[in-house]
Amino acid sequence: MPLYDTIIAGGHVIDPASGLSAPADVAIKDGVIAAVQPSLNSADATNVISAAGQYVTPGLVDLHTHIYWGVTYWGIEPDPVAARSGVTTWLDVGSAGGYTWPGFRRWIAEPAKSKVFALLNMSSIGLVAPTWELSNIDYCDVDLGVMIVEKNRDLIVGIKARIDPNTTRGTGIEPLKRARELADRVGLPLMVHIGGAPPTLAEILAEMQPGDILTHCFTGQPNKIIDAQGVVFPSVKDLHDRGLILDIGHGAGSFSFETAEKMLAQGILPDVISTDIHQLAIQGPAFDMPVTLSKFLNLGMTLEQVIACATVNAAKAIHLKGIGTLAVGAPADIATFVVDEGDFTFQDVHMNVRKGRKLLVNKMTMVDGAVLPQAEDLPLQPWSALPEHQRGKVIPVRPV
Ligand SMILES: [Zn+2]
Repeated sequence: MPLYDTIIAGGHVIDPASGLSAPADVAIKDGVIAAVQPSLNSADATNVISAAGQYVTPGLVDLHTHIYWGVTYWGIEPDPVAARSGVTTWLDVGSAGGYTWPGFRRWIAEPAKSKVFALLNMSSIGLVAPTWELSNIDYCDVDLGVMIVEKNRDLIVGIKARIDPNTTRGTGIEPLKRARELADRVGLPLMVHIGGAPPTLAEILAEMQPGDILTHCFTGQPNKIIDAQGVVFPSVKDLHDRGLILDIGHGAGSFSFETAEKMLAQGILPDVISTDIHQLAIQGPAFDMPVTLSKFLNLGMTLEQVIACATVNAAKAIHLKGIGTLAVGAPADIATFVVDEGDFTFQDVHMNVRKGRKLLVNKMTMVDGAVLPQAEDLPLQPWSALPEHQRGKVIPVRPV
């Protein structure tokens, strides 16, 4: 009887949770990590997967996604994307509200081969439609939110509120105040999306606390976190220093190279890099996690830093134990990548272009010790046209 089921051999292991970045083999037994050693004996395993020339990382944790396919405007199906991108854990942020939660659990989270967790939307209708979910204050029902969270703590790890003029439409800051109350009553982090104003950034920050998550943190929209001179607002910097988590949430409208460059120049890196993948973003310029991470690689972050932002940092933000790490005993959620060298083209949501030499490419995605099979995406929904200024203007990352 071999000691291990599988050894992933000959790769360069990057496990930011333990600080490891070195050549090493990874052994798996019964779906969990059994050993990470400079060299393991391949005769000790039933299967050997060669990772020669590849990086071996914890399966990626995408902290901002929309995967409630068929019930929401935004949702994509997670497993086909997981299998080709290295994402093994999805955080769906607010696609489901109280009334649509049972379907999310039964039809999305439970059948998925990849791991699925969620933030409950402050709006009881969630993201059925593109926006306006907070415009009817009757849908911001704190008691309902508490009931749903208490019955679903295995899957619900926080609360989500999108705060901008379209989502709120006249209800102002009240939905966020209720989201604050809900998050406090259930003792979970609150993720707030910023974009347009009103409400103002100052009004939004006043409701946020250390341990909360500010998503779309490098937006170029009116509520961006830098001033006209490109300097980060002291209120944001102060709250970040005290534990506010800055999450990218690229999406179709929420990542600006200009904001990113100014923030990085001030030495403020994102804590978490996430895609905000959905029906539009999947068409580019966000595309997926490897492309989104590659943008930060080409902005000057190291491979170890970007992998940390998409593994251990993301897992910590929502207090997931044993996820985003290659620690012995953790579930064997593992991804392998190469970094291609070439002439690559990246765009932000404003369609500004930056050229880059590095492209992270996923080679294998494993969940609980089993390689995820490649699968075709479901077709896009009939309504999922890119915004006018992006339509027909997405440039392929790799020269064609
Ligand atoms: Zn989103």
